[in-house]
Amino acid sequence: MLRAGVVAVQGDVTEHAAAIRRAAEAHGEDVEVVEIRQAGSVPDCDVLLLPGGESTAISRLLAREGIDAEIREHVADGKTVLATCAGLIVASRDANDDRVDTLDLLDVSVDRNAFGRQVDSFEAPLDVVGLDEPFPAVFIRAPAIDEVGDGVDVLAEWDGRPVAVRDGPVVGTAFHPELTNDSRIHDLAFFEETAVEA
Ligand code: GLN
Repeated sequence: MLRAGVVAVQGDVTEHAAAIRRAAEAHGEDVEVVEIRQAGSVPDCDVLLLPGGESTAISRLLAREGIDAEIREHVADGKTVLATCAGLIVASRDANDDRVDTLDLLDVSVDRNAFGRQVDSFEAPLDVVGLDEPFPAVFIRAPAIDEVGDGVDVLAEWDGRPVAVRDGPVVGTAFHPELTNDSRIHDLAFFEETAVEA
């Protein structure tokens, strides 16, 4: 039984819970989903989801509750994280914004609202490394990834900028893979890591 923790201090929690349940079912795996609102439950989780929402609020609440240190430890132990949109911003090395205390789980720097400044939200068919067919990616006031460290694999680009990356056990997306019925990104992050190496 896989225990998945969805960080639930702020943002879109139920959609991620549904997406990992779908991905697990497709793999014949049992998953238990727990919502994380305070310190103490991260150490019991095998995998974590860091949803979108508002990165300034999420980073403040993670620090206030002492969840930030537990998430860093989870990754230091080599355990998987999927961080999406604001979650990606919080998971980055540098958000170029003093109001966001980044967790430095992914060796990337990001530009908050980079795509959102042009148009608030859009959907795009995205070619993703490891997926046979384009993924219907929903971008909502999305960040772009500016700098990518040496150990980081770029899994997808939009408009010439990276929008999905993998850094060891951590996958980050600038878009919202939980907002469609397509759970292939959750699949890649949690169940199909080797597919990405193809
Ligand atoms: N623009 C938001 C931020 O900076 C992220 C938006 C999202 O998660 N959809 O936190």
